[in-house]
Amino acid sequence: MSPADKHRFREAAIVVLVRGHDPDLETFWVRRSEAVSFMPGFHAFPGGKVNPEDLELPLEGAADERERVLRACAIREAFEEAGVLVALAAPAEFGPLGEARRRLLAGEVQFPALAREHGWTFRADALVFAGRWKTPPFSTVRFDTTYYLARVPEGQEPSIRLGELDQGEWVRPLAALHSWRQGGPTFAAPILWSLIALAEGERSLAERLATGPERSARPVRRIELKWGVILHPMKTHPLPPATHTAAYLVGEHEMALIDPGGDEPQEIEKLVHLIESLREDGRRLKIVLLTHHHVDHTGGVEAIRERFKVPVAAHVETGRYVRLDLALADGDWIPLVPGIGDWTLRVIYTPGHTRGHLCFFHERTRSLFTGDHIPGGRGTVIIDPSEGDMGQYIGSLERLLAEPVETLFPAHGSPQGGAARRIRWLIEHRIMREGRVLDALDATPRSLAALVARAYADTPHEMWAYAERSLLAHLFKLEAEGIARCEGESWRRRADDEIGG
Ligand SMILES: [Zn+2]
Repeated sequence: MSPADKHRFREAAIVVLVRGHDPDLETFWVRRSEAVSFMPGFHAFPGGKVNPEDLELPLEGAADERERVLRACAIREAFEEAGVLVALAAPAEFGPLGEARRRLLAGEVQFPALAREHGWTFRADALVFAGRWKTPPFSTVRFDTTYYLARVPEGQEPSIRLGELDQGEWVRPLAALHSWRQGGPTFAAPILWSLIALAEGERSLAERLATGPERSARPVRRIELKWGVILHPMKTHPLPPATHTAAYLVGEHEMALIDPGGDEPQEIEKLVHLIESLREDGRRLKIVLLTHHHVDHTGGVEAIRERFKVPVAAHVETGRYVRLDLALADGDWIPLVPGIGDWTLRVIYTPGHTRGHLCFFHERTRSLFTGDHIPGGRGTVIIDPSEGDMGQYIGSLERLLAEPVETLFPAHGSPQGGAARRIRWLIEHRIMREGRVLDALDATPRSLAALVARAYADTPHEMWAYAERSLLAHLFKLEAEGIARCEGESWRRRADDEIGG
């Protein structure tokens, strides 16, 4: 790992808990709550980030310090998140495990101290290395995660840590894969590959989990977060902190490609290669859909149209910048040949970020492809007049609240569940910001730079140039509502008795 990598990636460990034997082998999986910041609402295995004190856990037989820390982290996370003690060196007298866990979760004691107190010691070889994965570059938060396979000791029954998780259950790997194919759970690529390896049975399970080109700390090439929904990050030049635009391939037989943004030949070649490799699975490209015209969403359009001879479709406003074969409007349907279920996408017109912004909704799986309307993670998007319009933007968010959306697939940042919660937060955030803009305005005309310093004091300075554009969008909205007034380059609050516009 290079020093730069070390800075960018946070080390984490995951524990793949199993019980029983073929053909009844089961694994314990959890659903991340909608309140967590990384991939809320996604299914996962218990695990988390390495803590400094993990090094102090009494653990025998680790090859080196790194192995030791990661295994200690996995053991601690299994206890914190699932309430099971794995990899014990000797059968321990459990006594009140629940009380020990309560103290740990309450922060009253650290895990190594707890282990010493109870006389617990652990063995490294009881945790079997099961692959190493790095979060692909679609996310600004990236983990270098090591997976371990661990058997839950007889007599222990997992119970999840409510708050960070909202579900946990034993599942047969094949049943989990089946519900995924039906459009049920959403999860990251390593979970999919682990479930596939588990479904193939116990024989040489550890080897299959630990090997393979996509399980050894290299970024994955096929990130299928939902069956029929493949995320393909392309290197582009979006606004910071993003570095990539996610193109999505949606569908089971016919596919729609949403927002092929990268324009570098290498990036386009990778996308072409992915589309061609999907032919082996009977999937072929039918149409290119654009959420909006910004170049980090459309850079690859001409190359893909040329290569696959497919039509390009978007809103007519987007057509002022990009040559379209089809103009799309709110309520239009894009039918794709059905597979296990229906693959029709519905067009939802969501102006605000640009005049022609569209989102695409897959009703069966309640998945929304959000373009730049809703960014991933906890970020917000720049509303840059005159393409950007704050009133329209908030209106479009409110409109989406009325749709039964569950999972958001953004062009920048991580996909996430808990859509309604996220959309409500964005609306509240804009209203909060509008309040700050209002507070910053008084009878004295002030420049945009002066107003940014007042209304965006909580935003890092290097982002103020961008914030100034969103500020202007708020001011235009307030002007239209008769609250703010522009004088030359400056803005002030309009007096209650002021006449005229
Ligand atoms: Zn954009």
